[in-house]
Amino acid sequence: MHPHDQTIFALSSGRLPSAIAIVRLSGSHAGSALRLLAGRLPVPRTATRALLRDGSGEAIDDAVVLWFPGPASATGEDVAELHVHGSRAVIAAVFSLLSTMPQMRPAEPGEFTRRAFENSKIDLTEAEGLDDLIHADTDRQRRQALQQLKGLLGDKARSWREQIIEAAALIEAGIDFADEGDVPAELMAPALSRIERLLAEIETVLTAQGRAERLRDGLTVVIAGPPNAGKSTLMNQLARREVAIVSPHAGTTRDVIEVQLDLQGYPVTVIDTAGIRETDDPVEQEGVRRARDRAAQADLVLWLSEDDQAEAERGTGVPVWLVRNKIDLPAPQARAAASVQSADRVFAISARTGAGLSELLEALIGFAGDFFGSTESGLITRERQRTLLEETAAALRQSIAAVDLGEELAAEELRIAALALGRLLGRVDIEDVLDVIFREFCIGK
Ligand code: GDP
Repeated sequence: MHPHDQTIFALSSGRLPSAIAIVRLSGSHAGSALRLLAGRLPVPRTATRALLRDGSGEAIDDAVVLWFPGPASATGEDVAELHVHGSRAVIAAVFSLLSTMPQMRPAEPGEFTRRAFENSKIDLTEAEGLDDLIHADTDRQRRQALQQLKGLLGDKARSWREQIIEAAALIEAGIDFADEGDVPAELMAPALSRIERLLAEIETVLTAQGRAERLRDGLTVVIAGPPNAGKSTLMNQLARREVAIVSPHAGTTRDVIEVQLDLQGYPVTVIDTAGIRETDDPVEQEGVRRARDRAAQADLVLWLSEDDQAEAERGTGVPVWLVRNKIDLPAPQARAAASVQSADRVFAISARTGAGLSELLEALIGFAGDFFGSTESGLITRERQRTLLEETAAALRQSIAAVDLGEELAAEELRIAALALGRLLGRVDIEDVLDVIFREFCIGK
């Protein structure tokens, strides 16, 4: 049996217990399940109050139900929603009844979205936007995800792909026309200028937006420096400030290894290398392992020191800011000023009193702004998308270069470019890529 003959169900709302919980069903048996539970099928797309009953007629819950007959539904299939009271017992009762129904099973992570994609309700970039929107922590992440969800990149890619296919058709028509050898210039010239225009447009998108695709992961800033420089004190100071969203991965209750900051919408993760140390506690080990992995990919190093020595490794290409700490204490003996020059910028703070911290945070916001570029105009939100757009641009360049060598070669490169855009949209694709993308989703989405 094809898996899509099965109707899926899942809890689509958050953790139980909650005031209200939403159970969603999708598939050809959603209607009969709803009829069994609610006693009848409500008017489509209208919130309807219903007493849900189990198989023996016993009441489960007083609920609100919704009925979206396909194809005008989120997944394109028949969809039902049960808005019940969010207790574990209610959900358990609903699920146990649903599980007894034939061809009904719990949904896999992302399966609703996958069905929407497979029924052409959304393209792959929109599915990615949906996933990003669900996981957005900061305002900028939310705006970027919403643009993607609205199909900004998808629409562009579709139009580029059509134009490339048209240009290829023009060239191929020319090949058929030409008895032998050259395609007439009247046919090649318009195709060529169209390809050049497209290439310029794609290149602008690739260069204009900085590293907007990194907005999902955020910027990684590492605090390094000699022992006792005040790294942990600075971390705890940051974690206490209102800008901190969460402080997960804290290895111990004593120290914070990692804080995530929302700096004017830019997600910034700060990692304290002082927290990176040998430990026997398995929970702490996991925190340390993660912190170490992320520190290795730092975008910026804050070298904390009591004097002007920045001993951080240079030459790795990662910018280093020298942060002189403990300015509330009398200044230590001035050291060789030459070492200051090895830092990209110099700050003076007191991690204990908080002096100078606002200036440091302001500078971090500026750095984040430059790093991510203008995310408002950013179309690319994932490495996958960037790679495929780069492949498209490369194939277009090849195609232009190949024109003199032979029209067939140029047309072949155009086919490669169109294929890359097809992959971007998920129209041409291999199951494993789809599996990877949809596995990242939550269950019930
Ligand atoms: P780490 O080894 O770099 O993590 O350093 P700690 O954060 O553990 O700090 C070492 C010592 O310096 C502690 O006793 C802190 O209280 C103290 N300390 C940290 N920052 C300051 C500061 O700005 N002023 C003063 N006076 N003491 C500080």
